[in-house]
Formats: sequence, structure tokens, C-alpha cells
Amino acid sequence: MKLTSYVAGVPVTAAVHEVKSPYDNRVVGTVTLANASHASAAVEAALKGGKKLTRYDRFSILDKARQLIVERKESFAQTISAESGLAIREALYETGRAHDVLMFAAMESLKDDGQIFSCDISPTGKARKIFTTREAVSLALCITPFNHPLNQVVHKLAPALAVGTPVILKPSEKTPLTAIMLTELLYEAGLPHYMLSTLLGPTAEIAEPLVKDPRVDIVSFTGSVAVGKKIAGMAGYKKVILELGGNDPVIIMEDADMDMAVYLAAEGAYRNSGQRCTAVKRILVHEKIAEEFTQRLVEKTKEYTCGDPSNPETRVGTVIDEAAAVYLENVVKKSVEQGAKILIGGKRKGAIMEPTVISNVPRNADMVVHESFGPLAPILTFKDIDDAIALSNSTAYGLSSGIVTNNMSYALRFIKELKVGTVNINEVPGYRIESSPFGGIKDSGLGIKEGVIEAMKCFTFVKTFSLPW
Ligand code: NAP
Repeated sequence: MKLTSYVAGVPVTAAVHEVKSPYDNRVVGTVTLANASHASAAVEAALKGGKKLTRYDRFSILDKARQLIVERKESFAQTISAESGLAIREALYETGRAHDVLMFAAMESLKDDGQIFSCDISPTGKARKIFTTREAVSLALCITPFNHPLNQVVHKLAPALAVGTPVILKPSEKTPLTAIMLTELLYEAGLPHYMLSTLLGPTAEIAEPLVKDPRVDIVSFTGSVAVGKKIAGMAGYKKVILELGGNDPVIIMEDADMDMAVYLAAEGAYRNSGQRCTAVKRILVHEKIAEEFTQRLVEKTKEYTCGDPSNPETRVGTVIDEAAAVYLENVVKKSVEQGAKILIGGKRKGAIMEPTVISNVPRNADMVVHESFGPLAPILTFKDIDDAIALSNSTAYGLSSGIVTNNMSYALRFIKELKVGTVNINEVPGYRIESSPFGGIKDSGLGIKEGVIEAMKCFTFVKTFSLPW
């Protein structure tokens, strides 16, 4: 597969970047690399503009893109799996999510979004009305991570295009092929070329100058905490949306349905090779049921076969590269030195890290204090709900959480007292629909939500006008 970066629809013909499979290191595709002059040309093309899109135009383009994703879901899934090492079944699931994002964005693009305020409603009022309307910002820079190579990208592009905001996309250099396939699909669906440039290239020539560029109105970034904070420092006077790392708990109370608890913990920890910002990264279990839960989770873990990502039977593919797997292996070893016990898994082969259950994990182990982006299931116990809330809130992150309980007063306390963006009762932390508000607080983000509807708001500003009435 030979792909190119694009400046407003014009292919970049320059140096070539090879994308290798994390599973067997074969070259699965190449992409041409843009440079600083391409970045500047992309800004100029977006600001020069072209045919202005009506709401119906935007609906039609997004709906056509939705149809094309359905037709091409196999080839998208194969590309996602080849470049990221994700199991093909996860990659296919991801194409379904992308379908939903495009469908919701198409639907939302048709809706009116203004408000009306009558002014004769107080003693000092008068006969006027104030109206609001949303206007697209002139240019968005969207920077995306490697995990979910399709869904992360479509979650930026679809809402921006739904409101008519031109985008410069900088996808991850680890998984650019899917992003470029999506770019080409959107052009094919009728998107005017000035509306989208997709650039891959050195950070110092593309991403950083664009983050700093005063002509860019908004930077929408999803990725690690370290890079997110760097971007916040560089961006200057512009809107910045940051969706950063997570360290999400699933909290299992003593009254939990045990089957559900085991299922949610395993799905949350292992799906997508544990590489979701909202993957279960800490399993907090009431001490009264910890022994039974732990045995059951070890049994369940045997179902998550890992290996060749292209095999439809594989449940857990690789992590993004061998270095990431080595990090996970080391973080497990370090927790063992601190007193933790590996109950199943723990071994690494190349970029494959086995689904691993670890018990007796100390509360200060690196594995649970920082984000471990892989299929690890560290178990920590707590004595009561106060302890569970304190333990859950004890890290720098605040993305999401899952609680397993049938006790409504427990559920209400977690909803009120967890310092996170989302609390899901009897679900994994990652549960959402693509249009619902999504995003974290503390180091996980600035509390500005994404999800199709909220992201559409981000890519606009509200204009207020008033008329005598
Ligand atoms: P990353 O290393 O932060 O990279 C993310 C993107 O930022 C990539 O496109 C990267 O480009 C680019 N980048 C790197 N340095 C930059 C700089 N100095 N200025 C501007 N852009 C720069 O993250 P990752 O490892 O790809 O992704 C995993 C992380 O994303 C995890 O922490 C995960 O939790 C988080 N995540 C969060 C959410 C959420 O919604 N909260 C969702 C998904 C993932 P290159 O690839 O070229 O380096």
C-alpha cells in the first residue's frame, strides 16, 4: 500500500515513511512525508477556502462517507490490524464505531442549534429578542494517537466537517495508513479539498509549528498527558481541546453480580490489547469477595487467546510496538519485586504481551499509579466504600470509571464522589455511544467534552445578535 500525505487534495511527493506490522515487522505500507512548506501551504489553502458547504452538502458528504465505510469495512479493518497489530475482530468492530460517528455527525449537521431570548421578561426589559447562532471556526488542527487508528480520526473529522470547519489532520506516525484511507474516502464522498489536509512529517516541521500558528483557531488533541501538556504550553491564544491518558478503575462491590464483574473486568482490561484510554487499568475489589473474584478472573483470562492479529480467532493482538511490550513486561516485573503476584500471563514475545492477572498489587506500584497501556489486570483490594473512593481518586488521572454493584446508595455515592469525567454503573469505564459527551478531568483532560455533539460545539463559536421585536 503506497499512500501520500495530502495538502488540500494535492498528494505530497517527497520522502517516504515505512509503516511496519508490530506483529511480524513486515512493511505494510508507505506514506510520503510533508515538510514545513507543506504545512504552511495547507493553512493557506484552508483559509483561502472554496465552495461554501450548506447543511445539506455536509449531510450528504458525511452520509456518503458512512456508506463507503460500510462497503469497505473489510479493507479498513485489515489496514487497522496490519498497522497497529490489533486483532482483526477488534478492527472490524472499530469500523462499526466509525459508521456510527459519521451517521450521528450527518444527522446533527441538519439540526438547528440557535436559541432565542425574549427581552421583555424583567422590569428593565424591553421589546427585543436576542438570538444565537453558531459559526464555524476558520481552521482546526487535529492531532490523533495510534490507538483506534480509524475511530480517533473520525471523531475529530466528522464533527468538524459537520459544522463546516476546515481541518489539518496530523495522524500518528505509527498508524497513518488508515487515516489517509479515510482522507481519500472523504474526498471521494465529495468533500471539497480545501476542507481537509492530512500531513505526516517531523514534529518540529509539522505539528509544533501548526500548534503555534496564530492562523489556527483551535487545536484538538488526543494522546498522552506529556504531549498534551506540552501542546497546552505551546498553543498560545487559541482554543485547545485535550483528551489525554487514563488510569480507569473498575470497582467491584461486595454485592456485585460475580459473573458480570468478571466479564466486565476482563473485557475492560483486554479488549483492544488494553490500549484504550478508557481500558480498565485498575481492578479494585472488595476484600470480602476478592479471593473468589480473582480465581474466576484467572479462569476467564484463558479465553483471551493472543497471537496473530489477522486470525479471526485471536482475541488479543500485539500492543503498538515491541518497546511498548517491553515497558509492560518491566512494569509487571517491578510490581513483583514490590510484592505482587502474577497469577496468569506475564510473558512477552516480540510486541505481544500476554493478558496478565496480577494480585497483591501495592497501591504505590508504577503499574497502577501511571497509565499502563496494555492487557494488564492488576487487582487491588479495599475494605469499604470510603476506601474504594479514596483509592480510585488517588491517581493524577480522571477519565472514566466502571462500578459493579446492585446497591443504589453505593451507585449514587460513586456518581457524586469520583473525580472523573464518567461513571458507568454495571458497565466498563469505556461504555459510551458516539454522540454522548465524553472526556476527562485532572490529567486526563481539561473537562471539555468530545463525542459528536459536544465536539461540534467545540469547532464553532456562538454569535449573538438581537432585533427589535
Ligand atoms: P502521543 O505519543 O501523545 O501522540 C499523539 C499524537 O501527538 C501523535 O500524532 C504524535 O505524533 C503527536 N505528537 C507527538 N509529539 C508532539 C508534539 N511535540 N507536538 C504536537 N504533536 C505531537 O500518544 P500515543 O502514544 O499515540 O497515544 C496513546 C495515548 O493517547 C495514551 O496515553 C491514551 O490514553 C491517550 N488517549 C486518550 C484518549 C482520550 O479520549 N482521552 C483516547 C485515546 C488515546 P507522532 O506519532 O508523529 O509522534
